[in-house]
Amino acid sequence: MANSGASALQSSRSISKGFDVPPRDKMLDNLIEDLFFKGAEGQKLNQIYLKKVGSVYTNILRYLGTQTDSPDNRDAVIFCDGSRFKRESPHSRWATDMTNGRKLRWRERQCEKGSEKIAAAVTWLGTADDDTRRWPAQIQLCDWFVEFLKQHEMIIGEDIRLKTKIGRKVIRKASQGKWLFNQIDVYNVLDKVLLHELTHTWMGGELDDVKVKKFGIIPRPAYGWARCKELAKTGSLVDNYFEDAPDNNAETVALFASGE
Ligand SMILES: [Zn+2]
Repeated sequence: MANSGASALQSSRSISKGFDVPPRDKMLDNLIEDLFFKGAEGQKLNQIYLKKVGSVYTNILRYLGTQTDSPDNRDAVIFCDGSRFKRESPHSRWATDMTNGRKLRWRERQCEKGSEKIAAAVTWLGTADDDTRRWPAQIQLCDWFVEFLKQHEMIIGEDIRLKTKIGRKVIRKASQGKWLFNQIDVYNVLDKVLLHELTHTWMGGELDDVKVKKFGIIPRPAYGWARCKELAKTGSLVDNYFEDAPDNNAETVALFASGE
């Protein structure tokens, strides 16, 4: 886990050096074309600077790149299970987060509500009811994903991975279009997921899960390569701080760091 956190930061470090000023390496240009280039309204590939993406990586490295034993509201804490939530009584609707004393509904624990049940990880921003940033952000790795990582750690070849129950679960999710793991995702999946979640935090730039229309008429968050590429073509132009642009999409920014 710690290794993957470090490697998530490492990949953003390597890419935050020198990608933002053209002329760029051909491979990097291809990646920028896939993830950020709309190719409309006179936009040219060599006029994309990705300033926002650069500042997201820089800030994650600067503010979230060192470990601390006493995290404050600018930090993020990663949880692998939900044991911090204590139910008030066996059937109570209420629970307490033992790390910060916060009261919440039992069914509103991270990874437990509605669409979060199919997520790999979920970030809570540490915001109190009055909108102040009171606590460290909490990145919760969801149970099925932790199981997947445990299995995956022991498995080397893709062919073996496909035979595992968890592997099948991931493939099934992918085929339903709910959570897309492509080949590239499988090998650095934890790095990418952590980086994705870190970009949601206050210090990470509070990026969104921007929605995109693909495979149907209902807009869904742009997760995975296919949807992120679609967002690049259909979203707003990058470098303008538009909310529905690919440089405001957590997944696009995370994939970019892992997409060499
Ligand atoms: Zn997200």
